[in-house]
Amino acid sequence: MFVEGFRVESPRVRYGDGEIESEYRYDTTEVVAPPSPEKGWVVRPKSVTYHFKTTTTVPKLGVMLVGWGGNNGTTLTAGVIANREGISWATKEKVHKANYFGSLTQSSTIRVGSYNGEEIYAPFKSLVPMVNPNDIVFGGWDISSMNLADAMTRARVLDIDLQKQLRHHMESMVPLPGVYNPDFIAANQGSRANNVIKGTKKEQVEQFKEKSKVDKVVVLWTANTERYSNVVAGMNDTMDNLLASLDKDEPEMSPSTLYAIACVMEGVPFINGSPQNTFVPGLIELAIKKNSVIGGDDFKSGQTKMKSVLVDFLVGAGIKPTSIASYNHLGNNDGMNLSAPQTFRSKEISKSGVVDDMVSSNAILYEPGEHPDHVIVIKYIPYVGDSKRAMDEYTSEIFMGGKNTIVLHNTCEDSLLAAPIILDLVLLAELSTRIQLKAEDQVPPGTPVVNALAKQRAMLENILRACVGLAPENNMMLEYK
Ligand code: NAD
Repeated sequence: MFVEGFRVESPRVRYGDGEIESEYRYDTTEVVAPPSPEKGWVVRPKSVTYHFKTTTTVPKLGVMLVGWGGNNGTTLTAGVIANREGISWATKEKVHKANYFGSLTQSSTIRVGSYNGEEIYAPFKSLVPMVNPNDIVFGGWDISSMNLADAMTRARVLDIDLQKQLRHHMESMVPLPGVYNPDFIAANQGSRANNVIKGTKKEQVEQFKEKSKVDKVVVLWTANTERYSNVVAGMNDTMDNLLASLDKDEPEMSPSTLYAIACVMEGVPFINGSPQNTFVPGLIELAIKKNSVIGGDDFKSGQTKMKSVLVDFLVGAGIKPTSIASYNHLGNNDGMNLSAPQTFRSKEISKSGVVDDMVSSNAILYEPGEHPDHVIVIKYIPYVGDSKRAMDEYTSEIFMGGKNTIVLHNTCEDSLLAAPIILDLVLLAELSTRIQLKAEDQVPPGTPVVNALAKQRAMLENILRACVGLAPENNMMLEYK
């Protein structure tokens, strides 16, 4: 059974005028190392009380996309307008209606509990008040001056009947000039760069800090993948060095780092959807000092997302993946940009790292330092456009010397996978600025990276459940046992 929403009644939860407060008992485990080699490890169950306070007044949200005129930027903007206007369009198959499929917040559900022996589900977004995506005001920057209607046509993603209905909504949308540094993206992007901010790096940063009419802004990088920036002591390794480098107009500062500096200085959340190392150590220090939200490392929408599910399943089932070969070909502008070795290298690093935490979690399968062979290939084939092909072969060692080879072939419009994820990222970034968390305990610096998709989803759901004082979904289903 499906319910649209619910209210929690609990002595530990208080629904106020503009906020929900919850006192939450977090049951965890403390691990104690052996005091001497002959003594064993000890683990102790531990409960920590957290106080969550969630502001329930939802702001009018502005989303500024860096790379607004690209495939993702235009597809997301078009998709939200189509939903807002309730547009439907015909293809040779059927009449389609605008939807938010692929968005965790808009199109997935949570289990609320059981009622008369029946499972009750509710929308994920019903847990705490969230911005309605139809109300988002979009804007952004692009080094190409093309208006969003023409850029949507250039992207070749959406059906033509839909494009025709959207054109008049998007013709007046023109990206602000972007920061262009040809050294950081492929040379083949040069012909696109006709909308570029002039001035020194510091002047460019000043120009981003533009005010808009919305209550709150989130900025998200969905521009071209850049090459890695060199991390150099004295240049970008600390906050002070980074800011001094800005004053000196240091060449080794990527456009994405410049946008991020501007956002952190203004307290505007900045999300990175591409794989480059935008968040150099000096920038992370700056964001911590300014208490400003930054995050993201490549959207991981298709092949890599699948990998984070499949390898988690294999390693979790006690099966040992030993070889992972991943081929892609695509024909959009992202594919063209990735045909340069420096930008491809950024993608290769982010795609390769996605299995590391799962492999290192299982010392029964892997010797210390042992790792599956893992190769990623990306080729640019213009004809297939945005419809990316991903082919993967996973070989694993199984019981008693056996081998198991799984082959996957995935064909999908890349931007239709990325757009709903961008939506989730901006909605969750906005929500995170309305949640305050106080613990009795000390918070250690750094958080381990978790790549497994199911764990990431469970973390998100359980934190939002904690905001309204609900226990985490533990799948024990003891009420039926
Ligand atoms: P795209 O090339 O169509 O769009 C990028 C846009 O950014 C272009 O319009 C370009 O003119 C603009 N741009 C480049 N440098 C800029 C700058 N410094 N400032 C402002 N604008 C700038 O690419 P896309 O398909 O929309 O993908 C965007 C990014 O998302 C890429 O880095 C891609 O690798 C990453 N990504 C995409 C997916 C996916 O689409 N499924 C998944 C993971 C990561």
